[in-house]
Amino acid sequence: MTADFETQLRAVSLRVTRPRLAVLAALRDHPHVDTDTVIALVRTDQPTVSHQAVYDVLRALTDAGLVRRIQPAGATARYEMRVGDNHHHVVCRSCGAIADVDCAVGDAPCLTASDDHGFVVDEAEVVYWGTCPGCATARTAQ
Ligand SMILES: [Zn+2]
Ligand SMILES: [Zn+2]
Ligand SMILES: [Zn+2]
Repeated sequence: MTADFETQLRAVSLRVTRPRLAVLAALRDHPHVDTDTVIALVRTDQPTVSHQAVYDVLRALTDAGLVRRIQPAGATARYEMRVGDNHHHVVCRSCGAIADVDCAVGDAPCLTASDDHGFVVDEAEVVYWGTCPGCATARTAQ
């Protein structure tokens, strides 16, 4: 799997470094985590890595397109490795849980704007808000 990450990094002309590999591994195992969680995960393996180093890695990986950054309104930025498929997210209003939602039936129909004003559209930021099963159960149990 590490070899896989090395190939991915080289494909976008990024040097292979231990913090970059650790961040990719953290995001593979924990999608939609925020920066603090990424730092905690990386430090289980590399205790001396600095906050700034992880910030820099996340920015480099996001700029290179290996990592997607999402930021639901009112939430901290989250990162994930599932990129390039214009999938959407459903977010729980109570606990902030996030899950992936494939684009509505067909080939990214929400990218076909009714009027694109001449822009070349490559992403539609769609967030579904609601209550996750855990929070819904807790609510009815009260
Ligand atoms: Zn919830
Ligand atoms: Zn996602
Ligand atoms: Zn869509």
